[in-house]
Amino acid sequence: DIQSRAIVLAMGCRERTRAQIRLPGTRPAGVYTAGTAQRWVNVEGYMPGNRYVVLGSGDIGMIMARRLTLEGAKVERVLEVMPFLTGLTRNYVQCLLDYDITLQLSHTVNRILGEKRVEAIEAVQVDERWNPVPGTEEIIPCDTLLLSVGLIPENELSRKAGVRIDPITAGPFVDNNFETNVPGVFAAGNVVHVYDLVDWVTEAGFHAGKSAAAFAQRERARERRHIPILPGDNVRYVVPHELDKDSLAQEEIHLQMRVKVPIDALVWVEVRSNGNLVTRKAEPYARPGEILTVPLTPKQYDEVSRAAKLTVAVVKK
Ligand SMILES: Cc1cc2nc3c(=O)[nH]c(=O)nc-3n(C[C@H](O)[C@H](O)[C@H](O)COP(=O)(O)OP(=O)(O)OC[C@H]3O[C@@H](n4cnc5c(N)ncnc54)[C@H](O)[C@@H]3O)c2cc1C
Repeated sequence: DIQSRAIVLAMGCRERTRAQIRLPGTRPAGVYTAGTAQRWVNVEGYMPGNRYVVLGSGDIGMIMARRLTLEGAKVERVLEVMPFLTGLTRNYVQCLLDYDITLQLSHTVNRILGEKRVEAIEAVQVDERWNPVPGTEEIIPCDTLLLSVGLIPENELSRKAGVRIDPITAGPFVDNNFETNVPGVFAAGNVVHVYDLVDWVTEAGFHAGKSAAAFAQRERARERRHIPILPGDNVRYVVPHELDKDSLAQEEIHLQMRVKVPIDALVWVEVRSNGNLVTRKAEPYARPGEILTVPLTPKQYDEVSRAAKLTVAVVKK
């Protein structure tokens, strides 16, 4: 047994698989997650196939579409069930547009064809409820289907430890010190929510480590002076979920969020308390694939310390 006064959970994510998205059709070889393909190509020097369809416009799928093209493969199509891109715009430009790889939004794989090996997939357009639109079916010959259909934070251990999990992020509820509801248990990185950039993960890791060390060295438990931070208009979730008021007296705190639907126009990222504006930040656009950040500074301490809760919204400017 290893004894410790504080723990940082950092188990990352796992990729969603074919079974989790219930893809119908035969069960031939040639259906892989984009991460598996990335490992084969980049680490083991093995090409999973020659002709690809990528399902999902997540970052790993788009990066792999480019990688496989550079290795001489043909990527026939990237299909995305949502009516918008789910990865970063820069990956769409640098990995798909620059390599003439077609992205079809509101499209999915209706079924997989082939017995021993994938021979084709049937693509289909979907309506806003993801139901196939009759008459839009298209057979796309390919030998490999790559799945880039989302990541799931790895939280079996967290649940066993009694950590409360946010059903939206599938990660622990954390405060701005990355502490969970269980005193002394911290969580950082993709285990909390799926980040778009690894740089944020590094920053969160440093912060959680520092907070855990401070907790371990503290002689007595601190009084909790927390307020909830809630998602408002067009915000799917905000991390941290709670703000320790005392921290704000000493340091800037970054609230990070993902929007529900894209706004391709100037937006305000607004933080409000009881309807009153606490702070806001302008952004050129808001897209679900890209995390937005708004800082709270010690200057806002007085106002925030009187608040019962904070609400974060992303609205058209
Ligand atoms: C397939 C894939 C490709 C990616 N490609 C890129 C890229 O090209 N560029 C980029 O910037 N970002 C990329 N990312 C994102 C980047 O990897 C993550 O943002 C970052 O690795 C998250 O760091 P983390 O420490 O939170 O989790 P991870 O790096 O996933 O680390 C978690 C670690 O915990 C281990 N673990 C899990 N459970 C347990 C347990 N019970 N006991 C012990 N150990 C455990 C895991 O095995 C893993 O080693 C990619 C992510 C994936 C999944």
